[in-house]
Amino acid sequence: MLVGVLALQVVLRACRSAEVSLVISDASGSQRFLVTVRAQPRILLVEDEPAIRTSVVAALEDAGYRVVALADGGTLDSELEEFRPDLAVLDVMLPGADGLALARRLRRAGNLPILFLTARDARGDRLAGFDAGGDDYVVKPFDLDELLARVRALLRRAGALESETIEVGDLLVDERAGAARRAGRPLALTPTEWKLLVHLARNRGRTLSKVQLLAHVWGYDAYDPNVVEVHVSGLRRKLEEHGPRLLHTVRGLGYTVREP
Ligand code: CA
Repeated sequence: MLVGVLALQVVLRACRSAEVSLVISDASGSQRFLVTVRAQPRILLVEDEPAIRTSVVAALEDAGYRVVALADGGTLDSELEEFRPDLAVLDVMLPGADGLALARRLRRAGNLPILFLTARDARGDRLAGFDAGGDDYVVKPFDLDELLARVRALLRRAGALESETIEVGDLLVDERAGAARRAGRPLALTPTEWKLLVHLARNRGRTLSKVQLLAHVWGYDAYDPNVVEVHVSGLRRKLEEHGPRLLHTVRGLGYTVREP
């Protein structure tokens, strides 16, 4: 079991923000457990004021992020190495090296988005922040919802969050609205066909096996590849009412959605 846990940690580290499905079999291959895990985006916060640090950490963790919070940049380099953040939130006024200096160090280390926390009316701060490679800022005292909205926008822009609208040719899958259209016409999908389509569209151009689709769409309580075939053909019929084939069978391997 320990080996399994270690393997899972390795997979999650490798996949970062992606969603990971695991299939575990016993020696005879007859028992299968299908597990889907979504790795959380990681955020590094450097803020010296304890009250702000505590409230920002709580808001980010409530929103589902993993957070490492530092009071200054003293251990920044080792945290970068260990924690490998997807985004950094930096206070500008810090003891020792200030937020702008830390941003320049982060920029040299990689390309992660940086959000500055800056003092009210410190206009010079903001301009210098962008020079140092900041991507956005919020002005203190800030609203936590605004901070979360900006974090989310930066992560999405950086590709650490999946976008909510997926286009494959003339197919538009709007995850937020829970609706799909082909050539402008709405598709009437069952809940299972919808889940299948979203997963295939998110992975457009990649071939997904029946087992991967089962794991993702049905979870662990079903194991019958024929179920996948039935729903794929239903989904394909609806997609093809309005245009050429998008959902292809890759013989012996699985299914893929790609532009005609
Ligand atoms: Ca400060």
